[in-house]
Amino acid sequence: MEREQAQRALQILANTYPDARPALHYRTAYELLVAVILSAQCTDERVNKVTAELFREHNTPQAMLALTQEQLEGYIFSCGLYRSKAAHILSASRDILEKFGGQVPAAFADLRSLAGVGQKTANVVSSVWFDKDAIAVDTHVFRVSNRLGLAHARTPAATEEQLKAVIPQADWSKAHHWLIWHGRRVCHAQKPACGGCPLAAECDFARQGEPTAPAARQPAKNTKTAPAARNGQNK
Ligand code: SF4
Repeated sequence: MEREQAQRALQILANTYPDARPALHYRTAYELLVAVILSAQCTDERVNKVTAELFREHNTPQAMLALTQEQLEGYIFSCGLYRSKAAHILSASRDILEKFGGQVPAAFADLRSLAGVGQKTANVVSSVWFDKDAIAVDTHVFRVSNRLGLAHARTPAATEEQLKAVIPQADWSKAHHWLIWHGRRVCHAQKPACGGCPLAAECDFARQGEPTAPAARQPAKNTKTAPAARNGQNK
């Protein structure tokens, strides 16, 4: 996509979603970090339900480490990938206490050093909590940006680099939220609502009838239902 066309698309997104913001509920950097770890392959709505219970008594690294792995799994089972997520949250909490004085670190490399914190999670925390310019490429950002033609990439890492090249740095963090909101409301994974989309005139997918990158279709969210409560903790 040419830079001018990209700017038109970004302006339409900005006008359409002036209030775009994170859907996850959090009050501290630590709560945000845990919520983003839990959001992998899970809806934000599900994460918010789980953290409403979890954070009632376990919203600091110290309080989280009062839980055993099995107890934490009981809280977060319905988010999916619960064993690895519980292990990552406990390990990250330990490192935050022992290496970073109990505070979620602001430096990107330090964030990335925490268990369960990949490029996307570190970008979200950097952008949302520490107010740094960053583009986190989640499933919606990946799909929408590659359909639109803002990127032509097969991986989130390549998509992030291409978006950074075409989007002015001051808009990186806002563009992340615009693309997520558009993906949730209009540019759905299975049936994008191109007929009513304000971006149709600027969109490669709408013009060509197919995504610019095969990987622009992505896996569905985790839809596992929780089994019977584990150890009385699954609320
Ligand atoms: S025109 Fe269709 S594919 Fe393009 S951004 Fe809009 S909904 Fe998505």
